[in-house]
Amino acid sequence: MDITLNDGKTIPQLGFGVFQVDPDETERIVSDALEVGYRHIDTAAIYGNEVGVGRAIAASGIPREELFITTKLWNSDQGTQSAFDAMDLSLAKLGLDHVDLYLIHWPRPDLDRYIETWHVFEQLQERGLATSIGVSNFHENHLDRLIAASSVVPAVDQIELHPGFAQGPLREYLAGKGIATEAWGPLGQGKYDLFGMSPVADAAAAHGVTPAQAVIRWHLQHGIIVFPKTNSRERMAENFDVFGFELTDAEMAAIDGLDQGLRVGSNPDTATF
Ligand code: NAD
Repeated sequence: MDITLNDGKTIPQLGFGVFQVDPDETERIVSDALEVGYRHIDTAAIYGNEVGVGRAIAASGIPREELFITTKLWNSDQGTQSAFDAMDLSLAKLGLDHVDLYLIHWPRPDLDRYIETWHVFEQLQERGLATSIGVSNFHENHLDRLIAASSVVPAVDQIELHPGFAQGPLREYLAGKGIATEAWGPLGQGKYDLFGMSPVADAAAAHGVTPAQAVIRWHLQHGIIVFPKTNSRERMAENFDVFGFELTDAEMAAIDGLDQGLRVGSNPDTATF
């Protein structure tokens, strides 16, 4: 299933993320994901595994236009020349002439360079090196500034989002601006017992699916773009097999009720890495 972005391009709503996938294992793991059927891969320069992603793409023989590849500009590369150089390096590592989506990884408001960087992203898009451009970990105030100072509204904002940290107000803001929401840590990164919480466990039991499948379905039914990560081919297949059932409104509402500010990652307003 595809989502149409504000620039008219489409993105597969369900993809595969490779945060913390060992660079030495990335080619095998992404090859597995492509064989399972994933066509949307989410990586980043800082993950150190773009080379492995590129090798898996090349080995797959899948036509380039059938794939959707995202990478991200790391914080220390925010700026003008550094951002152009970072894009070139990511493309070289991936072995691609363009990515489908390029994201500013974190706003790092303390650096005060994300608007300058966004102007580079606009040029990268014009030149065809990044088909769509977006941001990650941006809050309302960062986006308000960025939108006021530029001519392209980001296509997506990739934010921490899982039932315990559901980001309702930010999701509403993004919808109002026509910016698609992407979830990172969609399963809570395994950092709290999401799968044992009764709304998730009960919904899974009712549909004869696993708790992970129920949570992925919750994201999809909210219109969120999602790319769970796993090294296991079995779980890749499990996480991809989520189109044969539908959560009821009551099940969705019960999972919505798990929202309790359970942030598992860094706060974009204060992060300084
Ligand atoms: P996630 O929520 O996808 O959780 C991954 C964990 O869940 C792993 O420990 C995995 O073993 C487990 N898991 C996966 N499938 C399972 C299943 N079926 N049953 C049981 N356990 C299962 O966390 P994530 O990897 O951090 O997030 C997904 C992707 O989001 C990343 O790979 C990356 O591409 C992206 N990401 C982006 C940012 C950002 O700042 N933009 C930050 C973190 C992650």
